[in-house]
Amino acid sequence: MKTLFLNPPSFNGFDGGAGSRYQARREVRSFWYPTWLAQPAALVPGSRLVDAPARGLTLEDVLPMAREYELAVLHTSTPSYPSDVKVAEAMKRENPALVIGFVGAHVAVSPEASLSASTAVDFVARNEFDYTIAEVAQGRALSAIDGLSFRDGDRIVHNPERATIENMDALPFVTDVYKRDLVIEDYFIGYLLHPYVSLYTGRGCRSRCTFCLWPQTIGGHRYRTRSPESVADEIGRARDLFPQVKEFFFDDDTFTDDGPRAEEIARRLGRLGVTWSCNAKAIVPYETLKIMKDNGLRLLLVGYESGSQEILNNIRKGTRIDWARRFTEDCHRLGIVIHGTFIVGLPGETPETIEETIRFAREINPHTIQVSLAAPYPGTELYQQAMDNGWFVDSGLVAQDGVQVSSLQYPGLSHGEIFRSLEKFYKKFYFRPKKIAEMTYEMLSSAEMMKRRLREGAEFLRFMTGREDRA
Ligand code: SF4
Repeated sequence: MKTLFLNPPSFNGFDGGAGSRYQARREVRSFWYPTWLAQPAALVPGSRLVDAPARGLTLEDVLPMAREYELAVLHTSTPSYPSDVKVAEAMKRENPALVIGFVGAHVAVSPEASLSASTAVDFVARNEFDYTIAEVAQGRALSAIDGLSFRDGDRIVHNPERATIENMDALPFVTDVYKRDLVIEDYFIGYLLHPYVSLYTGRGCRSRCTFCLWPQTIGGHRYRTRSPESVADEIGRARDLFPQVKEFFFDDDTFTDDGPRAEEIARRLGRLGVTWSCNAKAIVPYETLKIMKDNGLRLLLVGYESGSQEILNNIRKGTRIDWARRFTEDCHRLGIVIHGTFIVGLPGETPETIEETIRFAREINPHTIQVSLAAPYPGTELYQQAMDNGWFVDSGLVAQDGVQVSSLQYPGLSHGEIFRSLEKFYKKFYFRPKKIAEMTYEMLSSAEMMKRRLREGAEFLRFMTGREDRA
């Protein structure tokens, strides 16, 4: 079937379902690659991938595409689901013969409800959907495809589960699809060099953090990996396809989970002479960090989450504050840049633990930070805990404009206090002499960095002003 893979238009600037872990409009213009859609697109010859938010496309822009295709696969998320359904309905009106399927964690968790929401959605592909979609595109009967839930007249049918992919090397390169269908300059992440390219070298995470969506839905708790040869082959090819790329990012949940493999990949990347970055847990030994740094590693994206050991224990992070301190010192010593991520409003949070986390962030001093509000996604243990304990406030995960809102509160800590603490966190971290000096020095390092940081600074201040209006 002639197939369109669509990351649908949504809230203005929405870093949507197809790439980001926590879908929302960010403080500064940010877009992750739609890698999850690019992977099945690489399995379907002649298909096309359209990333509407990153391209700035509206519903009017994408509607004519409905008439050009036989199958449309839309990546959805919990925050964008109502709006994605409207896109599907409009496409169905445009071309009633178009078969429309949804993929993503939201429909994997609630296939029945997702299909019941609208007759415009013909099927949903649950969990790991790459080969499920490839088989739909081959024109196989929907009833014969594992991992699929579909509409059969008035009935909704759930086929057996699809086996988890074990041979990750069998998946074709996503970067060929990026080259064919995307404009890589559309993709910005504040802490990555621009333009960057991101991809996965494996799926799944061994940790069991209660809030974390992907390992509890699509990826699972085993780290299933591509071989170092395959990773180096794709990066070598991508370097030739995109000579303008300044940095490659490995978006695996925890790239450093398999230390010897990370070291082996690093050595191969070192021979290619590329600059690269990845996600890491704050427990990587110094020796591994050194090998990665010596072979082109520039930055680590580190989920510290909290400066309170009690909260880390509550969310089953599997790290310790003293380990995180040592790891961060090691990175500073080696010259590895850190973008640290923190979450406010996790179970056990109090005004005191928020202060503790802010103090911790200032003390360990990652180069840049991102502070998020705890987001209880359906399918996670945090969601279930919030249901069981009555922590939800009736707000949804994002506001009308796609900006994250606080959807949890606890006895002694209101959702308003959690919401306001985010701004306090950013101000206390960035508005201090040491950090201002660091950022100024960075801006003076190049005219391009100066331009970029000034733009991001203006976006950040506009965003914060908007939040104050919303609070
Ligand atoms: S270590 Fe990171 S990716 Fe893994 S479960 Fe925890 S938050 Fe998720």
